[in-house]
Amino acid sequence: MNPSNFSFSPPTPPSYPRRNPHTQRPNRNNPPGKNAPMVQPHGFNAPRTPNSGARQQNLHRQKGRSIVQNYSRDFRDVLKIVPLSGFEEVGRNMMYLEWNRNIIIIDIGLRFPEEDTPGIDFIIPNITALRGREKDILGIFITHGHMDHMGAVPYLIAQLGNPPIFTTPLTQAMILRRQDDFPHTPKLEVHTIRKDERKPIHLGPFTIEAFHVNHNIPDSIGLSIATPIGTVVHSCDFKFDFNPIGDTPADIGRMAEIGSRGVLALLSDSTGAEHPGHSLSESVIMANLEEIFKKSDGRIIAATFSSLIGRIQQIIILAEKYGRKVALDGFSMKTNVEIAQNLNYIKVPKGMLISTQEAQKLPPQKVVVMCTGAQGEESAVLMRVANREHRFLTVKKNDTVIFSSSIVPGNERQVQYLKDSLMRQGANVYHYKMMDVHASGHAFQEDLKLLFNIMKPKFFIPIHGQFSMLKAHANLAEASGVKPENIVIPSNGNIIEITKDKIGISKNEVPAQYVFVDGLGIGDVKDVVIRDRQLMAKDGMVIVITIVDTKARMVRGEPDIITRGFVYSRESEAIVKEAQKRVKSIIDAHHNQNVPVNWSYVKENLREKLGEFFNQKTQRRPMVIPIIIEI
Ligand SMILES: [Zn+2]
Ligand SMILES: [Zn+2]
Repeated sequence: MNPSNFSFSPPTPPSYPRRNPHTQRPNRNNPPGKNAPMVQPHGFNAPRTPNSGARQQNLHRQKGRSIVQNYSRDFRDVLKIVPLSGFEEVGRNMMYLEWNRNIIIIDIGLRFPEEDTPGIDFIIPNITALRGREKDILGIFITHGHMDHMGAVPYLIAQLGNPPIFTTPLTQAMILRRQDDFPHTPKLEVHTIRKDERKPIHLGPFTIEAFHVNHNIPDSIGLSIATPIGTVVHSCDFKFDFNPIGDTPADIGRMAEIGSRGVLALLSDSTGAEHPGHSLSESVIMANLEEIFKKSDGRIIAATFSSLIGRIQQIIILAEKYGRKVALDGFSMKTNVEIAQNLNYIKVPKGMLISTQEAQKLPPQKVVVMCTGAQGEESAVLMRVANREHRFLTVKKNDTVIFSSSIVPGNERQVQYLKDSLMRQGANVYHYKMMDVHASGHAFQEDLKLLFNIMKPKFFIPIHGQFSMLKAHANLAEASGVKPENIVIPSNGNIIEITKDKIGISKNEVPAQYVFVDGLGIGDVKDVVIRDRQLMAKDGMVIVITIVDTKARMVRGEPDIITRGFVYSRESEAIVKEAQKRVKSIIDAHHNQNVPVNWSYVKENLREKLGEFFNQKTQRRPMVIPIIIEI
């Protein structure tokens, strides 16, 4: 056998753990970004192929726009706002503001994958436009501790030249804790913003002030950014809650003061813009959760996001009131509670927290288990409990399970499965559709109108959300008195240009294709890999192993045809037989010519012909992987 010809050509998923060598930057005193050309992860500039994900094509939607890799046409005195991601999607929020080559970045989030990107851990913003511009980046502001706002820091901070980060204490602690999992990334320079401290930060032409907003994590801040042509206000993910739990109400006084000085442009959270009325206060949720506590005489299992610090606090307060102990399960849940407790964002009575094992020994009516997995995540605690794969926890009759979070679009089926499975095992299940056991962290229409009234902006840009949400928010802006010509709804990669009296979207765009994180590799999974995974998931795969006698120039024996996820039925036998015949004849045809055989060409030919054949017979097009072994 000649091993060099034993070739297996399909893209193999990268092995884990592994790190893109370009992202290793252990020495923070000498970040290459500061004095060497910026390096790029492999995925940048990945060629866009005709079949790449539909959403990536939205870059080509607007005819006549040109994609610029590095947009710094030096328009003097034009303020540019560039959303790199987080528009027309929920997640991976990141944008930058630029004034005469000075840049500040707001948020560096990630997005969790959906069904159409199999095997992908995260999707992160595309920062091609900032490549080579590290010296222009004055700082990064992170509005709060949710992954869709700070989750991509470990993946991108080195590429950005490790600029200083400005954020609040809780967010800072969460970022730094997460950074521990990425030992090869540079040490971060983080500056603390206290939400109640009125200390402006001066960075080049920008003066930034923070104001406190409510959200479902404490220490969330909106930003007021004074630029030479006026003030830009960024709302952060926000709502107004006049009775928050474990937090203070949004600082409306401060916001009014900022508004009264005049606001040139408002960028405001659109996630709740399609919901009429006011978003619920956390104290309403508290009352509803208390009803459940009153009614339950078995164990209570409360599932939520580990970052919903406010909700976790509510459960702890209720547990104390109703004489229960709390067992935290799930790594992120424990970590976040510990961080929040250390910084006094959560108050936990002494002896309240117990381990899951200890919880097993207490009578059920004395126990609350708080865990992750309300989204139906495959490996989270709740799924393991439902599947009876958890080491200690099983659901018993009379247990109460509360899903205290909204469902992230795309997770509905998983959550349904989870609810059914828990109910089948005898649990009482509560979720936000049955009772308000979850309040959105986002302002609804009436709250959004209140912000318009406070800020009275000249220009308006809806941020955070799908197109329908952005559009609904734009309508609200108009109803609140913003002139239609002063509203723009941008897409990822657009360049918004603002002067004192005009707002518009540039003819140019910056790259905004997805960058995938797979294991620890960044950007090296390209569209083609995703496409292969989609193909395999949809139509299965066929491996064809053929042994070729190079001396005799003929195929030895019958080609071996292995199928996975493709066909399994009586008629498949006939198809396989026919396929074997075709493989032989294709290879023999190449042998007949009296020249050395070009095996990669033969393989390509096999792939194509067999693909067509299977498609003809089954209306499916599996991935065909030809392997030729020469002896
Ligand atoms: Zn958030
Ligand atoms: Zn968000």
